[in-house]
Amino acid sequence: MEIKTFGVIGAGQMGNGIAQIAATSGLNVIMSDIKEEFIQNGLNNIKKILTKNIEKNRITEEEKQGILQRITTSVDIKDMASADFVVEAATENERLKFNIFKELDQIMPEGAILATNTSSIPIGRIASQTKRPEKVIGMHFMNPVPVMKLVEIIKGIATSEETFNATWDLSVKFGKTPALSEDFPGFIANRILLPMINEAVYALYHGVGTKEAIDTVMKLGMNHPMGPLALADLIGLDTCLAVMETLYNGFKDSKYRPCPLLRKYVEAGWLGRKTGKGFYDYK
Ligand code: NAD
Repeated sequence: MEIKTFGVIGAGQMGNGIAQIAATSGLNVIMSDIKEEFIQNGLNNIKKILTKNIEKNRITEEEKQGILQRITTSVDIKDMASADFVVEAATENERLKFNIFKELDQIMPEGAILATNTSSIPIGRIASQTKRPEKVIGMHFMNPVPVMKLVEIIKGIATSEETFNATWDLSVKFGKTPALSEDFPGFIANRILLPMINEAVYALYHGVGTKEAIDTVMKLGMNHPMGPLALADLIGLDTCLAVMETLYNGFKDSKYRPCPLLRKYVEAGWLGRKTGKGFYDYK
């Protein structure tokens, strides 16, 4: 399957990173969001990263301009009609994603693949919103997308071999290493990562240590590049909570219950780096 035009739904921290690597690989990209303001934020972030890459002699000014020219933007999802492959990277909310997939199914060309970057929502549930479940797949990038090597590819129960192969090949074209996960709550990455982060929040909640002590123990003691609380701030506390809810609801096992402190932060709008405050202050 030849992919020429690549669509990205959502210009947030994941969406703009995905748009950047797709345009860098030579594809024409359409990046959409619900408001022009969010698109501009996304584009500014791409420009900032490309400028840093010039400073580090990784790309030339000419290459930067080429990448930016290959990215067009839209606030109308209907513009995805010209894409052969779409990755949805909108907010982690089941209802919202269901509506996006219903709409994409109606407007996208028959052979187009509809992928989702969801951190935790079952691919089969998303696929069942469409009349082409064989063309629906999970394509789970890691944050920050241009830096992290992994793409976790999640096959839904109805995903075809053709869809899987095209998604695998596209990940390789993006310079990433794919790994296959079956469609169970949290897939592989978040089933292992998020309970660790949630436990770090419990350690803070129970007063076992300060946030600095918890992060220092995991960084220096376990050789993790970031402490779990700093990583939660990077991921977004709303996304962390959404994943824990999915694990808890999916397995009905109390070991996955989200820490009340995590919920409290999310309710206060303290979502981490993206809002300037989470476990740490970024203002
Ligand atoms: P974000 O909040 O930074 O961005 C989400 C964007 O989606 C926002 O700009 C929002 O305006 C937009 N959006 C909402 N509804 C939309 C719609 N109907 N159409 C188009 N755009 C819409 O969130 P994020 O961190 O980029 O996460 C996006 C997705 O990626 C989520 O499913 C999340 O679980 C997943 N993910 C996140 C991470 C991470 O570390 N943050 C890692 C892997 C996967």
